[in-house]
Amino acid sequence: MTSALHWLEPLRSSVPELDQAAWERLHRLSGQLGELAATVPHAADQPIRSRWLLGIRRHLAGCVHHAPCDPVAGAVWHTLAQFCAGFHDLDLRDAIGPGHGVMILTEATRSTGERWRSRLDRGELVGIAATEWRGGSRLQEMTARATLDRDGRWRITGKKVWVSRLVESSAFVVFFRAPDDQITAGLVDAADPALHREMVEPFGLAGWSWGSLQFHGVSFDPTADLIGAAGDGLGVFRRHFSRFRPLVTATALGAAAGVHGFTTTVLAAKLTAGALPRIRDNALITLGRTHAEITAALLSALTTSRLAAMGHPSADLSARLGKAAGVDVAYRAVTDLAPLLGAAGFQRNSQIAKARADLTGLLYADGIHDSLYRSGGRSLMCQRSPVAEPAAVQHDLMSAGHRNMSQQTRLPSSR
Ligand SMILES: Cc1cc2nc3c(=O)[nH]c(=O)nc-3n(C[C@H](O)[C@H](O)[C@H](O)COP(=O)(O)OP(=O)(O)OC[C@H]3O[C@@H](n4cnc5c(N)ncnc54)[C@H](O)[C@@H]3O)c2cc1C
Repeated sequence: MTSALHWLEPLRSSVPELDQAAWERLHRLSGQLGELAATVPHAADQPIRSRWLLGIRRHLAGCVHHAPCDPVAGAVWHTLAQFCAGFHDLDLRDAIGPGHGVMILTEATRSTGERWRSRLDRGELVGIAATEWRGGSRLQEMTARATLDRDGRWRITGKKVWVSRLVESSAFVVFFRAPDDQITAGLVDAADPALHREMVEPFGLAGWSWGSLQFHGVSFDPTADLIGAAGDGLGVFRRHFSRFRPLVTATALGAAAGVHGFTTTVLAAKLTAGALPRIRDNALITLGRTHAEITAALLSALTTSRLAAMGHPSADLSARLGKAAGVDVAYRAVTDLAPLLGAAGFQRNSQIAKARADLTGLLYADGIHDSLYRSGGRSLMCQRSPVAEPAAVQHDLMSAGHRNMSQQTRLPSSR
């Protein structure tokens, strides 16, 4: 069986930000993830598996697997670490790093950020609640809202759907309309008694709980719990997903690389045992093509992470298109590799069947692909078009591709 580092070592020259010590930490992390993954409870037992995953997150938080302090080197290292996590199991996608909690670290007040840094360092988890019944691809139509209370606090009412890490999160970054109707992001404690959850059983990515989150007048302190400025919710969303999407992409590609490694190992073993007289060309071609595609998409994810950490204006577009294209590559690779193993890979408890189901979830989560490609295409047209208004790019949020028709007709492509 190959390891994640077999894939990453040849890319060393592409990530000059990482020194020898950073590579050694990556090796240690990869080895430890492999050992931990071998102790996984059966996927069907969701609550036990969820506790196991949270336990791994806390355990790894106590180890010294930290990313380099330099923001660009840190982002690149974390992208490679996510690849290692996905290589073993896509459910390990939250095993390390602040995850959605990075919004608190970068956009909350200083005291809230400091408090949460130590909580995240201890392995606590933060969820994101953005999607509503109208559709996650049309964020600007959200209806969850806050009203102003007499004591100056806000009361949040509404419902979010398809929220992941529903019961494991210690808090949620929630997107809602502030009393002035502007979309705003805020931090809500998961233990708030005015929060209600309804679990839904997913088809894949079942390690973490999933479902809807209702806000029945949740009390909110706008002096302490805002994430970003009031009214800048869409900006918070865009900045966050510029950083987060390449990590998701790298995790998906890691999962595909894991399936690739498993497939080559099984084919080699069959050859050695005489179960196969030779490896046919169709299998060799699939192995070669998928290896090249996974590697190319990973390099693209690394570039996006680097751009996002640098605050480069192209990071947002690169993250949208890179997530859709990279996860598509991972999904297609696993779909093409699975038949090489025959019916054995169709067993419910096989690594291959699980990776296929998990990757299906990532075609939706963190941005549905047709919306991401479409909004990417629109951004590209805006860059080329002398008549396209700059605000079009601003509002062209990753998955929030909503546009009204009057704006669409200004684009040459839709005239
Ligand atoms: C495993 C998983 C985990 C998730 N985790 C979270 C989470 O933690 N937090 C969270 O907030 N959300 C989460 N989501 C939700 C995810 O972000 C959304 O699924 C995604 O944004 C797409 O939204 P939607 O599913 O509502 O689809 P929709 O927005 O309803 O889109 C469905 C389809 O309709 C298309 N469409 C949109 N508008 C139109 C139109 N006018 N005409 C024709 N077609 C249109 C879209 O392009 C798409 O193809 C998760 C989803 C999954 C599957």
